[in-house]
Amino acid sequence: MNEIFSGSFTQQEPLSEAAIAAALAVMRHGRLHRYNVEPGELGEAALLEQEFAAQMGARYCLAVASGGYALATAMRAVGVTAGDAVLTNAFTLAPVPGAIASLGAKPVFVDVTEDLVIDLDDLAAKAGQARVLMLSHMRGHLCDMDRLMQICDAAGITVIEDCAHTMGASWNGVASGRHGAIGCYSCQTYKHVNSGEGGLLITDDEDIAARAIMLSGSYMLFERHLAAPDPAVFDRIKYDTPNISGRMDNLRAAILRPQLTDLATQVERWNTRYRCIEAGLQNTPGLQVIHRPEAEVYVGSSIQFLLLDWAADKVQDVIRRCGARGVELKWFGGAEPVAFTSRYDSWRYASQQNLPQSDRILAGIVDMRVPLTFSLEDCALIARIIRAETSAVFQSK
Ligand SMILES: *Cc1c(COP(=O)(O)O)cnc(C)c1O
Repeated sequence: MNEIFSGSFTQQEPLSEAAIAAALAVMRHGRLHRYNVEPGELGEAALLEQEFAAQMGARYCLAVASGGYALATAMRAVGVTAGDAVLTNAFTLAPVPGAIASLGAKPVFVDVTEDLVIDLDDLAAKAGQARVLMLSHMRGHLCDMDRLMQICDAAGITVIEDCAHTMGASWNGVASGRHGAIGCYSCQTYKHVNSGEGGLLITDDEDIAARAIMLSGSYMLFERHLAAPDPAVFDRIKYDTPNISGRMDNLRAAILRPQLTDLATQVERWNTRYRCIEAGLQNTPGLQVIHRPEAEVYVGSSIQFLLLDWAADKVQDVIRRCGARGVELKWFGGAEPVAFTSRYDSWRYASQQNLPQSDRILAGIVDMRVPLTFSLEDCALIARIIRAETSAVFQSK
């Protein structure tokens, strides 16, 4: 009899009692707006920013309404305006090109490699086309960040890092989000900390920080921030920076603060699950496990593998057969965008671009979430199911 998996791929863990208690305290006093503080009171949003800045070793931090909002704010803060070209990954999720489009700017897509990272040769070839790179560490795969920064520094490109899947990750000992000028994080339910919606932005640049804070809707209350530059820096920009409200509130900040304290523990738990699934998939005929470089510390909150150069109907067979056994796989090769997966050519607000290398790889990318509600037994079972169904379809090819 075939084994069936009956767990949920979208169920995260409940919030800790510490987070619940912090949320209750905010609800009991009712001051949810971040600037609604009593004399001398430090609001939860300001404290969250101070703590995240310290945790990441960044000078400045801003908490905002979503990860996508953080990306758009980061681009505005470095001066991207309508009509500008912005380099970005061909393999990413829709909020990334969406943030670029929200400014009226134009995404220029860079190829993906078989390691599922940005192709640095393609990046070098396109470096002259834009002054900003919106680098998406898609699904937590970090490219050679040292080489990427060399390419971008030499070409005068400002790097903004989309760390939606790399909060807690690092390259060569440097935390993800600390290589470029700005690091952006998402606190949405499916990421590494969960406040439903939310985003964080970090930088060491005082002008970028001041602009981002004004942009997020600080009015002239920026002095209530605890991870912000001196008021003198705001004097340089406060009359010229529009208010595009997207603040974080004290309730969500209260929920996030205890989660940041637990991040390292959670990363270890994700990686134990990731390694268990990865081990179970090794040496499956026709299936390519994604190589993880030595220099990379990743967060295995999702796992990908390649069915490279398979016919589309065979990939769909694998996904259908795994689905019938309770294993929810997503495919990045589908012609039509489905749920959270879509391909660069389905973002039709961007100009049509021809990326045959990415087309080949995207057609083979299979993706699966790894929520912490999975036990290690669940992970081993899931790997057995994927292995059996992939092998069965492969043999019938
Ligand atoms: C989730 C996500 C975002 C945006 O985060 P939101 O908080 O949902 O706006 C950006 N980039 C990637 C790769 C994501 O997965």
